Amino acid sequence: MDVTSIIDSLNDAQRAAVTAPSQPMLVLAGAGSGKTRVLVHRIAWQIQVLGVPAHSILAVTFTNKAAKEMRGRIEELLNISAQPLWIGTFHGIAHRLLRRHAKQAKLPETFQVMDSSDQLRVIKRLLASLNLDEAKWPAKQMLWYINAQKDEGVRARHIADSGDMLQRQMVTIYRAYEELCDRSGLVDFAELLLRAHELLRDNEDVLAFYQQRFRQVHVDEFQDTNTIQYAWLRLLTQGKDNIFVVGDDDQSIYGWRGAKIENIYSFQKHYPNHQVIKLEQNYRSTGNILKAANKVIANNDGRMGKELWTESGDGEPIALYAAFNEQDEAHFVVERIRSWVNDGGMRSDVAILYRSNAQSRQFEEKLMTTGTPYRVYGGLRFFERAEIKNALAYLRLTSNRHDDASFERVINTPTRGIGAKTLDEIRNIARDRAVSLWTAAIALLTQGGMSARAGNALDAFLILIKQLDTDTVGLELFEKVQLVVEKSQLIELYKKDKADKGEEKVENLEELVNAARLFDKASVQMVDENDANLSELDMFLANAALEAGDMQGDDFDDCVQLMTLHSAKGLEFKLVFLVGVEEGLFPSQQSVDDVGRLEEERRLCYVGMTRAMQHLYITYAESRRLYGRESYPRPSRFLREIPAEHMQEVRLRASVSRPATVVKPRSGSIQMPSRYKLGQRVSHVKFGEGVVLQLEGEGAQERIQINFKQVGIKWLIVSMAQLDVL
Ligand code: ATP
Ligand code: MG
Repeated sequence: MDVTSIIDSLNDAQRAAVTAPSQPMLVLAGAGSGKTRVLVHRIAWQIQVLGVPAHSILAVTFTNKAAKEMRGRIEELLNISAQPLWIGTFHGIAHRLLRRHAKQAKLPETFQVMDSSDQLRVIKRLLASLNLDEAKWPAKQMLWYINAQKDEGVRARHIADSGDMLQRQMVTIYRAYEELCDRSGLVDFAELLLRAHELLRDNEDVLAFYQQRFRQVHVDEFQDTNTIQYAWLRLLTQGKDNIFVVGDDDQSIYGWRGAKIENIYSFQKHYPNHQVIKLEQNYRSTGNILKAANKVIANNDGRMGKELWTESGDGEPIALYAAFNEQDEAHFVVERIRSWVNDGGMRSDVAILYRSNAQSRQFEEKLMTTGTPYRVYGGLRFFERAEIKNALAYLRLTSNRHDDASFERVINTPTRGIGAKTLDEIRNIARDRAVSLWTAAIALLTQGGMSARAGNALDAFLILIKQLDTDTVGLELFEKVQLVVEKSQLIELYKKDKADKGEEKVENLEELVNAARLFDKASVQMVDENDANLSELDMFLANAALEAGDMQGDDFDDCVQLMTLHSAKGLEFKLVFLVGVEEGLFPSQQSVDDVGRLEEERRLCYVGMTRAMQHLYITYAESRRLYGRESYPRPSRFLREIPAEHMQEVRLRASVSRPATVVKPRSGSIQMPSRYKLGQRVSHVKFGEGVVLQLEGEGAQERIQINFKQVGIKWLIVSMAQLDVL
């Protein structure tokens, strides 16, 4: 690989960014303009041309998938292993730092990472132990409060008493939560970031070491950094010029979780000798897709403002499909995917993007019944399934007895006769003596006073955990996992469970053993030579919490990609389906009355549209069952913001397509002449002969009401009914 080949595939502005001498740099540009490409090439340039050692490169991005892709792209460019580079998510890098410096971070070596559902469980238990009514103190709300404080770098002790009772109580809960986590060695996601910041802030030697080690610090998706992430970056690059960030204000989509778009402005203030580079050519999407996305985002106020252009042709217009209901929507999408694959397209080039995880099920079912391999990112991920979490909880306890969340999770799973009363007693002791549940359980047993039955049951549980620990010494990781799922009797529990998808759960547990077998310590982003002292089991467990979902299928499998719009950030696909584009769903119900949130939804729409390279389908349903409720949503306002010339409505039956009309109110849409007339006599394969009473809708939604001689009045979907005119 020579020097020129790193930069000859770049345009002038990109090249300037890649080769600029060390100075704080901000690349500010729209979707698909090559920001990530520039970042990757700059890293390659430094290693190849400037001779910067690979291990002194730090690159932070937002999702595990993006980090993996970045690593892959660098390996491809330089034909070297990217292993020594520190590439990862903020959480992944923070975790790595905390593992290496647990002591300085004031954490036990065996600390465990909790995901948000673990965190919620801990908070629920805490509220109960404080005798707080959950109706008045919803655990979810407390979770949001605590995380929001942490994202701002605020500990409970930092919050001044304003005399407000409500605030006082929340701070009390926050403090109790901190104590409990410290005692149990539990670290939630927000804590990872906050601790990593405190680690650098409070340990001069550690900070100096990393400031020296990282000769270059790169950040992708900078617009979505929160206060603590940015503070952490500033510490690392303090007094130096080695920070290179890329971002797009129009793609800031994590404001609801504390991201600060203002960091883009702060950057320019904090690094006065910075240089800004703008990129304006889009290399990803066709003209129609790009122009439509530009128009949509133009409806937001206060943008930094930029217009993207492309040299590639207009391509096809965006295809709009109005589905009859959510099943019809899924059916349509999966059919289109089938013809894409039949025409030689790769499944992995196809993405179905939705606003909310709950939407994935319909598509999964249809994909499953048609035997189309797919992969869901996020949602109920593999490692978040109850059976998997139960197994992991056993494993965690064998590694760390004081992990209260795990203790609580499995003390009576499978049921072993340990009742709520015993558990309450354990909790009380734990709270009074400020010890872990494990320690409290032992104390309860020794102090006596329990019924023989309860005492035996509790004793058996403690013995089981100790036994699992001794039995697994010296075993391979997967053997450990296997032994634990069996001896804990989880497998047996689910085998007996015929009703509640027991079989699937058993399979999932088997898959966990498999995942452990395939678990490659070296491939985990946070591992390097210095982490060797961490046990493989601990690595596996930490990885399970951090990389949930990444074990579902092999990355090289050719499968359709399903994900939320949020997790699609930074990615691109040849064929994209943007589904459920309806008022109340996208934009979400909570955002429609709030200008700020509505604009964030619009940015999300911009992100979604600009994922598409060649083909973009947008769908909405006229009726939808979601969260167990039936609704009749209106098409999203974002559709109205797409000029008609860039979009065409899909007509399943008609041979020609016409410009989209749904963007008008439904009553004003043009009625296409139907094949059928009122009063006409028709015949149906199953229902026999009848007379047409009413017609409604059009295209795929055209419905017809018929009075059949034999079965009476029925509504049918014309495109599916296969009627013959008599
Ligand atoms: P996003 O805002 O969505 O993260 P981005 O600005 O990071 O987008 P990239 O993903 O880096 O954009 O690039 C978009 C696509 O355009 C990629 O497929 C990339 O390889 C391609 N691309 C970027 N620059 C060039 C170029 N100069 N020549 C050819 N292809 C390019
Ligand atoms: Mg990018």
